[in-house]
Amino acid sequence: TKQIYAFSEGNMNMRGLLGGKGANLAEMTNLGLPVPHGFTLTTEACHDYQEHQRLSDALLTELDTALDQLSQTTGKTFNSQTNPLLISVRSGAAISMPGMMDTILNIGLNDETVVALAEMTHNPRFAYDSYRRLLAMFGNVVYGLSEDGFDQILTDMKQQKGYESDLDLTTDDLRQIVQAFKAQYGTGNVPAFPQSPKDQLLAAINAVFESWNNHRAQVYRKQNHISEDLGTAVNVQEMVFGNAGEDSGTGVAFTRNPATGEKQLFAEYLLNAQGEDVVAGIRTPQSIDVLKRDMPEMYNQFATIAAKLEAHYRDMQDLEFTIEHGKLYLLQARDGKRTPYAAVKIAVDLVHEGLISEAEALLRINPESVSAMLHPEFDAQDLAKQSVLTTGLPASPGAATGQVYFTAADAKTASEAGKKVILMRQDTSPEDIEGMIASQAIVTSRGGMTSHAAVVARGMGSNGVVGAHEINVDYQSKKAVVHNQEIHEGDWVSVDGTTGDLYLGQLATSDATVKGELSTLLDWAKETATMGVYTNADTPQDFQKALDFDADGIGLTRTEHMFFKPERLLQMRRLILAEDAAGRKAPLIELQRMQQDDFYQLYKLAGDKAVTIRLLDPPLHEFLPHDENEIQAVSQQIGLSPERLRERTNALKELNPMLGHRGDRLAVTFPDIYQMQVRAIMTAVLRLHDEGLEVHPHIMIPLTDSKPEMAWVRQLVEDQLTAMMADQKFKLDYTIGTMMEMPRACVTADQVAEASDFFSFGTNDLTQLTFGYSRDDVGSFMPEYIKQGILPADPFQTVDVEGVGALMKIAIEKGRSTKPKLPIGVCGEVGGDPASITFFNAIGITYVSCSPYRVPVARLASAQATL
Ligand code: PEP
Ligand code: MG
Repeated sequence: TKQIYAFSEGNMNMRGLLGGKGANLAEMTNLGLPVPHGFTLTTEACHDYQEHQRLSDALLTELDTALDQLSQTTGKTFNSQTNPLLISVRSGAAISMPGMMDTILNIGLNDETVVALAEMTHNPRFAYDSYRRLLAMFGNVVYGLSEDGFDQILTDMKQQKGYESDLDLTTDDLRQIVQAFKAQYGTGNVPAFPQSPKDQLLAAINAVFESWNNHRAQVYRKQNHISEDLGTAVNVQEMVFGNAGEDSGTGVAFTRNPATGEKQLFAEYLLNAQGEDVVAGIRTPQSIDVLKRDMPEMYNQFATIAAKLEAHYRDMQDLEFTIEHGKLYLLQARDGKRTPYAAVKIAVDLVHEGLISEAEALLRINPESVSAMLHPEFDAQDLAKQSVLTTGLPASPGAATGQVYFTAADAKTASEAGKKVILMRQDTSPEDIEGMIASQAIVTSRGGMTSHAAVVARGMGSNGVVGAHEINVDYQSKKAVVHNQEIHEGDWVSVDGTTGDLYLGQLATSDATVKGELSTLLDWAKETATMGVYTNADTPQDFQKALDFDADGIGLTRTEHMFFKPERLLQMRRLILAEDAAGRKAPLIELQRMQQDDFYQLYKLAGDKAVTIRLLDPPLHEFLPHDENEIQAVSQQIGLSPERLRERTNALKELNPMLGHRGDRLAVTFPDIYQMQVRAIMTAVLRLHDEGLEVHPHIMIPLTDSKPEMAWVRQLVEDQLTAMMADQKFKLDYTIGTMMEMPRACVTADQVAEASDFFSFGTNDLTQLTFGYSRDDVGSFMPEYIKQGILPADPFQTVDVEGVGALMKIAIEKGRSTKPKLPIGVCGEVGGDPASITFFNAIGITYVSCSPYRVPVARLASAQATL
C-alpha cells in the first residue's frame, strides 16, 4: 500500500492516515493557500517501522520518488551548490499532542550547502544561523545530545561579547558557534554529524517514528486517553525562512481570542526569526499590530486567509505562519485550545454566524468545564509559583483561601469577626453545618466524594477537599500536621476544590461570572434534552441558586438537614430522648411549626415546579451529644440528668448506623415523626392554597427494601393525609414514591412499584450496599483502587454501569412492567456526573437531580446524551 502522500493528494478527512497536521496541510494546499510543498509518511508507515524497527525497502523507494517530485515542484535539489533543497521533518499524530514528539528543521544544510545558501541569499548570517539550528535540533533529537549543552555555548558567546539577544550575533560569531556545535558530535558513542542530506533525512524520519514511544509522549497519551496504537505520521516539507532578514518573520495566531473567545485575530509575531523562537519563548514576541504597521499588505493577506480557514474548518483556528522575503506561507492550522469560557462563547457565536448548528455547539462543550465557569479559580500565574502541600479528593470545585480553624464553633466565631475561614477537620458530622456555612472551604482528612462534608459543600456551592489523609488534625493543641509541616489555628491556606490540592498561604483568586453565551447554550440544552434536571436542595437559598441555573424543580429535599440549626437540634433532642409518646408531643409540635415554614418557603419559590420532600432518613443518634462536654450542655438544656442522657445515648448507639435504625425503619418504630412531617407538608400546602397557589406534594420514602415495608409506610402517610383532608374538606393531589437504595428493592421492583407512584434512585446508598463500601470511609482505599486499576473510577462519582447499573436496569424494567409510565429519577451524587448521565439517558431515566451548582453541567450532559 501507498505509504507516502504528497500534500496535494490528501484532505482533512484523512487524519487517521496522515495525522492531524498532514491532513490539514493537504487540505490547505487544496484550498489553494500558500503552503510550502511537501509530503506525508503515513501512520501505517509508522506501524511498519514499529514492527520491524527499520524503514522498509518499499518505503525507501517511495521516498526517493517523493523527493524527486519535490525537487521538480520547487526547482531545488539536495546538495545543490546553486539552489539547495532544505526541508523540515515534523511529527503529527491523528490527535494533536503538542510538543510531545520531535521536529527537525533546516535538513539539507551541511558544510557546503551552507556556503551556497549564504551566496544565494546574500545573507551569510542567516545561512549560519540556520545551520547552527539544524546542528542543535538534530543532535538533540537523533543522538540525544542535551539541549542545554548547545544553549550553553550560545549563552557563553553572548556573555563573552556582551550581547543582549541572539540577534546581536554576527556571522563570524555564528560560524564559531557552528564549529562548537559540531564538536559536540563525534565523541563517545555519538557519530559525527552526517553531511549527506539524505542521511540526515533518514535519521530524522527514524527519530520521529521513535519519538512516538518517548516517555513524555507516553505520559501525555495516558493522561489524555489517547490510544497507544495510533502512531504518528511524518511531514516532510520545503523550508521557508522567517529568519531570512528584516523583510521576514514568523508568527502564531488564533483566529479568536483563546482566553475570552472574542472575535478578533489574536497573534504574536517575531521579525526575522524561526517558528520555534516564538513557541519556545526564546524571544518575547510582539503583537500582530507591529506586522500591520510594518507590512500592511502581509497583514491583510494573512487576516483574509485566517478568516477563510476559520470558516472552512468551522472553528477557531490556531495558525502558524512565516513570511520569507515578503511572501506569506501557512505552516499549520489546527483547532485552537481555549478556556472553558472562550469555548462557550465561540460555539454560541459560530451558531449565530451560521457556521455550525445548535446541536454541534452543544456537543463541542465539555460539561465539566461549565462547572469550572461557575466557581472562582486560582489565578493561573500565582498557582504556577506554588508547591502543593497535599492533595485530597476534589469534592466540590472552586478556589478558596482563608485562615484555618479546627472546630465548627471556632470557624463560626472567626467568620463572624469578619475573617475568611477554612474549616479543617479529621471528618465532619452534621452538627458542623454552621461552621461549614461560615467557611470558604471545608477540608477533611477522611471521607469520600459522597461523605457528608462533600455533599454539603457541593450543596452550598462552597469549596471542599475531603479524604486528604496526609493531614492529621490534633484538636487538643489546635494544629494539624502534614508530613513535618505544622498548621496552626489562624494560619492561611488555599484550597483548590477542583483539583483537590492544598497550598500554604494566600493565593490570588479570580471571580468567575456567568455571562450571556452560557445561558444561551443552556437554553438550547434544555430544548434538546429529554431528561429533566432537578436539584437537591434543603434550603430556600440552595433552591434559589438552582432556580437561577434553571432547575426544573427539587428532586430531593433532605429534611434532616433542616434539623441541625441549634434551636431545632434542641427540639429534636427532646423528641428523641423523651421516654414515651406523651413526652414526644411538645417537641413534635415545635418541630412541625418550624418545618412547615421550611416547606412553605420551598413550595412558594417553586411555583408550579415540582418539589420532592424526603421524610427523615439518618440514624437518630446522629442528633445526640457525642462527648462529655456536650452531654453536660445538653443535659442542662433539656433538663435530663447526665446519667440518664448517657444511658439513652448509649441505647441509641449502633455498631453499623448506616445499616441500622434509619430511614423508613424509623417510621415503623417512631411513626409520630413521619406523621409530624406529613402534617407540616399539608399545612404548608393549605397555606399556599389560601394564597392562590396549588401545590401537588411529592413525598419520598427513604431506604425501602420491600413492598410490604413500602405499603406499611405509605399507609401511615396516607392515613395522615386523609385525616387532614377530611378535616379541612380539601382534596389534595399528591404522589408518594420510593427511593431505590437497597439492592433488594431493585430486584423486587415490580412489587415495590405497586405501592409507589415514582422511584428515585439513591445511588449513594445503592452503591454503598452493592459494593459493600462504606461511603463515609472510602477515602482510605479508593485512591489506591483507582491507581492500581482495580476500579476504573470512584463508583460514588461515576455510576458503576456493570454492577449498580445492572440493578438499576432491573429495577426500571420491573417497575415499569407494573406501571408503564412510572417516573424514575436519580438523586444520588452521580446524578450530576456527565458520564453517568449518558448511561441514565440510555436506560430510560426520567430525570436526574443534583446539587445546584451541578445543574448546568447535568443539563448540558443530558442534551449531549440525546444527540
Ligand atoms: C442516596 O443515597 O443516593 C441519597 C440521595 O440519599 P442520601 O445521600 O441522603 O443518603
Ligand atoms: Mg440515601
